[in-house]
Amino acid sequence: MPNIVVIGAGVSGLTSAYLLSKDKANKVTILAKHMPGDYDIEYASPFAGANVVPMASKANSRWETRTWPELKRLAVEVPEAGIHEMKSRVYRRKKDLQALREQKHAIDGLFLENPWYKSLFDDFRELSRDELPEDVASGCEFGSVCINTAIYLAWLVGQCLANGVVLKRGVVKYVSEAASWSHTGNKADVVINATGLMASKLGGVMDQKMVPVRGQLVVVRNEIPYMTTRSGTDDGEDELVYTMMRAAGGGTILGGTYQKGQWESQPDPNVAMRIMKRAVAEMPELTHGKGVEGLDIIRHAVGLRPWREGGVRIEKENMDGTWVVHNYGHAGWGYQGSFGCAERVVELVHEIQGCAKL
Ligand code: FAD
Repeated sequence: MPNIVVIGAGVSGLTSAYLLSKDKANKVTILAKHMPGDYDIEYASPFAGANVVPMASKANSRWETRTWPELKRLAVEVPEAGIHEMKSRVYRRKKDLQALREQKHAIDGLFLENPWYKSLFDDFRELSRDELPEDVASGCEFGSVCINTAIYLAWLVGQCLANGVVLKRGVVKYVSEAASWSHTGNKADVVINATGLMASKLGGVMDQKMVPVRGQLVVVRNEIPYMTTRSGTDDGEDELVYTMMRAAGGGTILGGTYQKGQWESQPDPNVAMRIMKRAVAEMPELTHGKGVEGLDIIRHAVGLRPWREGGVRIEKENMDGTWVVHNYGHAGWGYQGSFGCAERVVELVHEIQGCAKL
């Protein structure tokens, strides 16, 4: 009987546990230092917007391609998951496209002209000149979704509990140590490592390719008619302009920053002011023409995207007799790739079971 311990209760760990627990033969335990409801700089998931704006290149689009239909289904059919449908506009500036061609840009695939993902959305269209801000060269629009992470993470926990998953609070120093945390009392056959950025500090993994990409944002009560993401700003290479409105009263997110290698957990007031000014300049209707003073702030926040040099790590490894399946390093696309990645985790667990039977 497959006995599995998942380390991590972020979107990667919870989605992996959820899909694994659909097979009633699997006995799944989630072990985590942080759980939904906590806000901590070591825990990225609560801070995400979170919306779907594909970032992959065509070559590694499997994770996002496989996830989109499920998030869309949840938005349409499962209101209690806390996801709603919302249009998303992507603005491409001429100078950023040049930088993108020279491979300098952070969110690669999203701003491509004629992107691979246009076939992913059934309502993808290029924006006309009169729909674009003046300084923007071109742009597109598609029907996306926005996730209220506070509701969605709790919903995932609920799905896991309904499937018999047991959640435990704890911290492991060494990855294979987790095998002894199974609620069954027996040693787990497989450990799923979904520790996000903390994979850089977990014994046996110590992945030095993991780097925080600091995202500062402002959450406001003001509403927006559609979400936006702009290819760059003139204020700094590591600052971004994006807006998204969470489902079910979750507030509107004004972003942000993309600061590689920065661990600072406290919001910088100067950055916050720039974020708000840029958002209002791009979308004056945000405050009905009242400028930054018209923003009704809920909170300032900082989260760290778990970025990995070379990309996400999803693979199996036998560590001193314990099978470990890694699922970490999702940078800024952990939600929009969550089902695709968790599906791969299930495949890898099946492969391990196949090996064990031989
Ligand atoms: P985490 O959420 O960090 O979870 C890690 C888990 O592992 C935690 O439970 C932690 O306690 C546990 N853990 C770690 N070490 C140990 C240990 N030793 N012992 C026990 N437990 C341990 N993604 C999108 O798809 N769309 C967006 O719009 C989006 N916007 C974002 C905006 C911001 C500002 C940020 C910061 C991120 C954004 N992301 C977005 C990215 C997304 O949030 C992450 O990719 C995702 O949350 C990573 O989830 P995770 O489960 O891998 O890691």
